[in-house]
Amino acid sequence: TSPWSFFEMAPLDPIIGLNEQFQKDDYPSKVIVGVGAYRDEKGKPFVLPSVRKAEKILAEGGLDMEYAGIAGEPRFVDLALEFAYGEDSAALKEGRIQGVQALSGTGGLRVFGEMMKKHGSTTLYLPNPSWGNHKNIFTNSGLEVKNYRYYDADNSSLDFEGMVHDIKSMPAGSIVLLHACAHNPTGMDPTLEQWKELSSVIKEQDLVTFFDCAYQGFASGDASKDAAAIRMFVEDGHLISMVQSFSKNFGLYGQRVGALSVVGRDAEEAKKVVSQMKTVIRPMYSNPPRHGARLVTTILEDPQLTAEFREECKGMADRINTMRGALKDSLESAGSTRDWSHITDQIGMFAYSGLSNEQVLEMRAKHHVYCTGDGRISMAGVTSDNVDYIANAIHDVAK
Ligand code: PMP
Repeated sequence: TSPWSFFEMAPLDPIIGLNEQFQKDDYPSKVIVGVGAYRDEKGKPFVLPSVRKAEKILAEGGLDMEYAGIAGEPRFVDLALEFAYGEDSAALKEGRIQGVQALSGTGGLRVFGEMMKKHGSTTLYLPNPSWGNHKNIFTNSGLEVKNYRYYDADNSSLDFEGMVHDIKSMPAGSIVLLHACAHNPTGMDPTLEQWKELSSVIKEQDLVTFFDCAYQGFASGDASKDAAAIRMFVEDGHLISMVQSFSKNFGLYGQRVGALSVVGRDAEEAKKVVSQMKTVIRPMYSNPPRHGARLVTTILEDPQLTAEFREECKGMADRINTMRGALKDSLESAGSTRDWSHITDQIGMFAYSGLSNEQVLEMRAKHHVYCTGDGRISMAGVTSDNVDYIANAIHDVAK
């Protein structure tokens, strides 16, 4: 008998699985606005010109292919931390912020989850809703995953009061995960005043604050501005941990570039935490791949390439924002009388449309427009060529 005979077919991943379904659809005007991956105005994958330049520099550099250390490329980690916490960060200068390279955001989240479980944490709170993979990552790390209120679906707005209330009720020692900017899937972030209030509310509690920073640069187009919440928390004295992804802002999705960091009371404390991250990494994947980290390092080490990168990142954010306006206009032109202002109010890569799961499935079956089951539309996949088609499909099922 086969040792595999009792294996059942696992269900498709709710986000990545959409691609497989889409590939099988042979309808000519089919559109996918599922996975959060940037597309250019022709709907094609986009490699940043600054990344292309960095590739060339690396190719000519005659680099070796030796293993990186368990914590990855030290130079990359330094630059990644400066990118998020700010070159002027006092905590960074004091050596109180230390980190490791991670297998992009997902890998960093998992290392964090495993490390916290090993050190006695039991519960992690996610915003409701949150990125679909969060729950599985932390459940698989052995943590209990709970939610705090975040989004008010009836009013397409942030449920700030509910959020504060739920944070105040979290038991001491719980981990609270905050999206640093461009909340996925809702595109709704707290304002700076609200972040300030969150900072003081969390300060009064005995919580572990964990930032997931997957879209730095995609919210406002300015990577430094998008780090405002993180920098505020560190300045306010929070001893946070943070995971960074370079998938979206540098367009390095498949290269798996990220960092996981911690702010300690002093350098020694931060180093101890990093040493524990390494004990999780070593038996899991030993050490991370080097190429993507070298690309980011090459860019961030060079002021000219960094300036080009910042412009290109802004270009992506701007195109998405233009498409938000275009989608809202097209919905109105299609005859929709619903209020779609949340599409332009939201920021980042997604529009949280408000379509129900039934409407999403109807739109898929009838119009071959694929978004995730929660009605999340990846604005990065919307172009001047398909925006009217998408708007008509949304209007038809939302009538
Ligand atoms: N966190 C959030 C909030 C995300 O949206 C994503 C990507 N969709 C990730 C983390 C992880 O992405 P990656 O592993 O590609 O860095």
